Amino acid sequence: MDVSSRRTPGASALADAPGEYVSIGALEDAHVHAADRDKEELLRYGIASVRDMGSTGLATDLQSDCWPTRRSLQVQRGGRVFDAPYSTLRTAWPWHDDDDLKRIIYSLPNSWSHIKIYSSFPSTQIPWLCQQAVGRGLTITIHPGADALLTAIPALDEVAHITSVLGYIEPLPHAIPQLIQRWSAGFTKIEIDDIINRARLAQLCPTLSVFHAWLEAKSFDGVPQNVRSTLRSSRKVVEAAWENMIMMANLLFHAGVTFRIGSDTPNRGVAPGYSLWKEVDLISQAIERPRITVLEMAASGTGETIRVRRAVLDRFLCTGVPPAPEDIQTGKE
Ligand SMILES: [Zn+2]
Repeated sequence: MDVSSRRTPGASALADAPGEYVSIGALEDAHVHAADRDKEELLRYGIASVRDMGSTGLATDLQSDCWPTRRSLQVQRGGRVFDAPYSTLRTAWPWHDDDDLKRIIYSLPNSWSHIKIYSSFPSTQIPWLCQQAVGRGLTITIHPGADALLTAIPALDEVAHITSVLGYIEPLPHAIPQLIQRWSAGFTKIEIDDIINRARLAQLCPTLSVFHAWLEAKSFDGVPQNVRSTLRSSRKVVEAAWENMIMMANLLFHAGVTFRIGSDTPNRGVAPGYSLWKEVDLISQAIERPRITVLEMAASGTGETIRVRRAVLDRFLCTGVPPAPEDIQTGKE
């Protein structure tokens, strides 16, 4: 039962006392690369569902209900990504021709919710792949490569990462340092209008956490090699890129683009569970909306609730410091 309901009138002095909990909706991390080792930590942070945005499929039995908390993590499955033919990515489907693609699409279990098209998938084949996926009732998320968003994409549901919206106006640079350079240069009014008009056609999962973790990194250990050199030589460029991403997120949200809240865990610099709360904080700052509003945007569709220590939730809502697992009660009573 909800402990807070035991409060008596006039007991407001107890509001911050230990043991006082507030119920809120359980959360969804809309962008994870599912790995079995992360699921307990996700649950401990009050996350009830995740969307798998590229994994080796190790996680296909994540729904097993065997955790000490007696909760299960609902996984909206996407599994491997569609990347270049002969891709060496561990998390990409091996495929060589259209027949392979068709075989893959039609062998996906009915329980899958979406496919993800990754950066080196040939843009000329995207419309065809989308058509196949829609025929199977799957939604489509894209992490676009060069030209992908410039190509007319039917049935596109979601774009992954704020950096990707650049692809609405020009080919995305493949290498991260070039992408950072481009973002740091900023956009003209016409370019911004163009991005907004096209971005309205799909939802966006900005995943600000990873880039922000690079900026905050005390050492460069948590930063990919090619980003490290950019940070070392031109930190100002990285900071300018970040400012422009925040500005773009703000413009897109207020232009009516639907946001999904996802952390991109377990990328370097982000941690399962913790980083979803960080993402809520970052999005809240970017779109200049209260953290509680973004928490609601991140609610899972499972109907479950979690209980967060009142003082800790208040602290998060005021300062953005995420709760620790011991401040969150989850699980069936
Ligand atoms: Zn990702």
